[in-house]
Amino acid sequence: MLTDTAIAKAIDARRDDLVRLTQDLIRIPTLNPPGRCYREICDYLAARLDNAGFATELLRAHGTPGDSDAHPRWNMVARRRGARPGECLHFNSHHDVVEVGHGWTRDPFAGEVEGDRLYGRGACDMKGGLAASIIAAEAFLSLAPDFAGSLEISATADEESGGFGGVAWLAEQGHYAHVDHVIIPEPLHKDRICLGHRGVWWAEVETHGRIAHGSMPFLGDSAIRHMGAVLAEIEERLYPLLATKRTEMPVVPEGARQSTLNINSIHGGEAEPEPGYDGLPAPCVADRCRIILDRRFLIEESIAEVKAEITAVMERVKAARPGFSYEIRDLFEVQPSMADRDAPVVRSTAAAIERVLARQPDFVVSPGTYDQKHIDRIGRLKNCIAYGPGLLHLAHQPDEWVGIGDMADSAKVMAGVMADLLGG
Ligand SMILES: [Zn+2]
Repeated sequence: MLTDTAIAKAIDARRDDLVRLTQDLIRIPTLNPPGRCYREICDYLAARLDNAGFATELLRAHGTPGDSDAHPRWNMVARRRGARPGECLHFNSHHDVVEVGHGWTRDPFAGEVEGDRLYGRGACDMKGGLAASIIAAEAFLSLAPDFAGSLEISATADEESGGFGGVAWLAEQGHYAHVDHVIIPEPLHKDRICLGHRGVWWAEVETHGRIAHGSMPFLGDSAIRHMGAVLAEIEERLYPLLATKRTEMPVVPEGARQSTLNINSIHGGEAEPEPGYDGLPAPCVADRCRIILDRRFLIEESIAEVKAEITAVMERVKAARPGFSYEIRDLFEVQPSMADRDAPVVRSTAAAIERVLARQPDFVVSPGTYDQKHIDRIGRLKNCIAYGPGLLHLAHQPDEWVGIGDMADSAKVMAGVMADLLGG
């Protein structure tokens, strides 16, 4: 049996390599949208993992949202078979990063190091986690070349825009059919195991009216006033109801341990003027008004119940307002997902955290979703967690960074899980 001391030594010996690898990944600006440099990063990773004895495949998710010849959706899957039959442990990272945004004091694609911090877009979300899993795999393979089962590493597209050209597509193609355990190195931090995420329902709600001259609003019917009544109903009845719906899911932060609703946007009446137009608006009664709802729901709720709540809001308003009519359009939905605390990958990771960090792990659930939804729903595998270095609140921020020591610690935990599940 591989000792923790041997693993720690092998990871520590690769610390400079871990930094260089993370820097190399950050220097490939895989911005999504539109989906830049996906092929470059997959080529880079495939070359690295070929070298480590993996069989690698580059797979383009043809025809998925965003896929085009200008911005093809490339994914990389690497497999290394052990010396004996056994289980398959799969590490999945997304290789895309979100836009840079404003407020940086560093070059977002240079991979600058200062002290223990490595800066760059994607440093924590999640190229640092991807690099940690690769270093963990290379260290493990050097110590236990005769391991049982198989070890896989995938780097996939488009997590930031829903994962349809990445994990969802791979799952549809059957790439998870033989997989027993999945770890997604998202930045939940080195001492936390993320069991899953809440559900999502996005919908567009529209109220209808009738256009008329603004000087004679009584000749029309204002869709904005109708929407005002909807918003008042949401404020007075729905928000208090949502606040009573608490979950057993250990969601962090604490405020997300209940049902939540955000109204992402509201548009009513005349369209926004074109940029550069400096004239006045025209006087019209709004004939339509739309809001986008972002409802996050709990494992204790069903999506049918969540949708019925909004219909009930609209029907109550309708009963009180003559001439009121509306439409609700579904935009997007994700079921909640949560691994069992006794699932093998959870137990193994918890034990490795205890050994490496000499502390009990925290078990958490993410307020927002990530690729676990596809592994669960399409890949039909519940034995899946997110575990990786980095602080979640730094994701998508200016001056994003990941701790080098945290990456190394996470890599030790990951290699410990490999040793436990694949024998070594
Ligand atoms: Zn991420």
